[in-house]
Amino acid sequence: METEREVKSDPRRGLPSVERLARAVRQTGCELPDWALRDAARGLLEEERERVRVSSGAATLETLIARARERAEALCQPHPRRVVNATGIVLHTNLGRAPLAPGAAQAVAAAAAGYSDLEFDLPSGKRGDRQAAVAAKLARLGGCEAALVVNNNAAAVLLALNTLARDREVIVSRGELVEIGGSFRVPEIMQRAGVKLVEVGSTNRTHAGDYADSVGPDTALLLKVHRSNFALSGFTAEVGLPELAAIGAEHGLPLLEDLGSGTFVELPGLPREAFVPARLQLGADLVCFSGDKLLGGPQSGLLLGSAERISELRRNPLARALRLDKLSLAALDWTLEAYLVGTAERDLPVLRQLSEPIGHLEKRARVLAERLAKLAGASARVEARAEPSPVGGGSVPGLELPGWVVAVEPAAGAERVVGRLRAAAVPVVARVRDAKVLLDVRTLLDGDADALEQAFRHALR
Ligand SMILES: *Cc1c(COP(=O)(O)O)cnc(C)c1O
Repeated sequence: METEREVKSDPRRGLPSVERLARAVRQTGCELPDWALRDAARGLLEEERERVRVSSGAATLETLIARARERAEALCQPHPRRVVNATGIVLHTNLGRAPLAPGAAQAVAAAAAGYSDLEFDLPSGKRGDRQAAVAAKLARLGGCEAALVVNNNAAAVLLALNTLARDREVIVSRGELVEIGGSFRVPEIMQRAGVKLVEVGSTNRTHAGDYADSVGPDTALLLKVHRSNFALSGFTAEVGLPELAAIGAEHGLPLLEDLGSGTFVELPGLPREAFVPARLQLGADLVCFSGDKLLGGPQSGLLLGSAERISELRRNPLARALRLDKLSLAALDWTLEAYLVGTAERDLPVLRQLSEPIGHLEKRARVLAERLAKLAGASARVEARAEPSPVGGGSVPGLELPGWVVAVEPAAGAERVVGRLRAAAVPVVARVRDAKVLLDVRTLLDGDADALEQAFRHALR
């Protein structure tokens, strides 16, 4: 119980009201909208009341005004904002995964700003199929009969399971019951898809017999899931696609592979199993993967396989709920065309970044280091050096390539500087290792070097 005296000296009483603080921020010449000033003031005062309750000493009005203003500015920032990715992680889930090729981005802008023949057949003047063009390109690239695209790969898995195995059993190895970043968990998606999970094998070892022994009258599908964000090593065994396909064929069961990351070129540096045509050739009836991982396109879920299976999927009412929007469709179409005409390696940022020769990376790192060293003067030691890049992020586990970074050792401390880099007008995201800020040149895009220089200036001030 609080005594009268304590109530009177309660520093919470010294805090201004929301209205008063918002007005004070306005009087600093701030032109942000009223809702932002009020939301910022309310949020800040709530925190301040809590802070004052557990410790002593309220912030001065001046400090409150400055902090409320910063908060209001943050509330009015557009989202998502452009950032410079200096992490070296090409497929960074938190930074939007694959950047689109400039041509694909232009296709998006054109589709967004005007009308299009999205679902209109120009020769006949009748209703058209929004997917026909990309589906034909995908089938050609995959060397298969048919294809379907949906909103993302999680949706692709959901649609495939729900279509092929609703109320029935799906067999999957215990070693593949994974969770992918962003809360995609195989067992949970299976439950929501209305299928019954039959786990076989053990975490580290699953054999062909485990699958074969589990097939029963209620089995509808064999599922293989790429482990994507973790690697299994040591005493392990898994059943390859051809063997699984043989088990499927023997029992008349389709085989679905959730590949996670898939692509239509074979390049040194890319994981071999990501080459989609080979997966289909090895016996998967259906393969699904993300459009914005190694493929280098927009967020989307791509399903490739036999005409029969794909048409079953298309007829599921869920397909309509999970369909791809026209902006992503435009970007995907452009990206697939690049694969078809053979310019993917040159035009798609993801492929370019993954296959950039080490000599180029070194040269870029040395040029950047020189520029930054000039800016830093005595406030930091700056040097270019070789350092592996963790290019796969959460999308391709353990995929590391030899790379080059600019290592910055600031007098003010690496943690402080890396934080200030994130607070720049164009924020820069970098990693810290051994008291050094590492700026990986692999993931720097055109125009990023200038933004980085500006942020660096801000960070060392
Ligand atoms: C990334 C991934 C998913 C989820 O794909 P989204 O496109 O993010 O929905 C599903 N399965 C696997 C194996 C993955 O790697």
